[in-house]
Amino acid sequence: MLPNRCLMCHQHINSEQRGLCEVCLQASSYQTEICLGCGREMALPMAFCGQCMLKPTIQVIAPCRYRDGIGHWVGQIKYQAQFAVIDVLVEALVQRLFHLEGLGLVERPQVLIAVPLHRNRLRQRGFNQAWIIAKTLSKRLNIPLIDDMLFRVRDTQPQAGLSGKSRRKNLNSAFALSDGFNWQRVALIDDVVTTGTTVKEIAKLFQRQHIQVQVWCLARAEAPGVS
Ligand SMILES: [Zn+2]
Ligand SMILES: [Zn+2]
Repeated sequence: MLPNRCLMCHQHINSEQRGLCEVCLQASSYQTEICLGCGREMALPMAFCGQCMLKPTIQVIAPCRYRDGIGHWVGQIKYQAQFAVIDVLVEALVQRLFHLEGLGLVERPQVLIAVPLHRNRLRQRGFNQAWIIAKTLSKRLNIPLIDDMLFRVRDTQPQAGLSGKSRRKNLNSAFALSDGFNWQRVALIDDVVTTGTTVKEIAKLFQRQHIQVQVWCLARAEAPGVS
């Protein structure tokens, strides 16, 4: 067993909670209401800000801001199989969800689906971090995880470093949804949502069939132009 130290500040953690101490978790988590569309802070508890209300917008539910240090550690899950932060951040996400449900701003999905990796990438990495997060959420919330209906059918190049237009082009027809998807509300799970290009691309497949999509992730970036 590794010593139970906080990944961010390296202080010893006394509680059962592994990976992050309470101080660092609080410092990285949202303390105010934020727009589920663009991530901007809001004074009143509403799902969307005025600008996001004017256009079709996907709800992105996350406990933490990507740029506040935590994004780096969520990224480490993928690159260094750093799983220590998953449980604590999944619990923070669950608490955020309960908060939003309590306000009547989100409706619980019937099933969870993880953003899939292409089988080549999965073989290389050995795991899909989004699936691990989704599995943890599925157990915690008792919502089924569907992992045999959404596929990454094209082995695309990594999105990092591509411009907005190239990101969209790169993902064109990258995903496929099996016939016979019978639910009306789904939460798409990813580790982080930065530009949102990937989740928007997948959401199109569901929305074409009038299935409601919300996105759950451990950390989100604000939409461009929002700070
Ligand atoms: Zn800490
Ligand atoms: Zn907004």
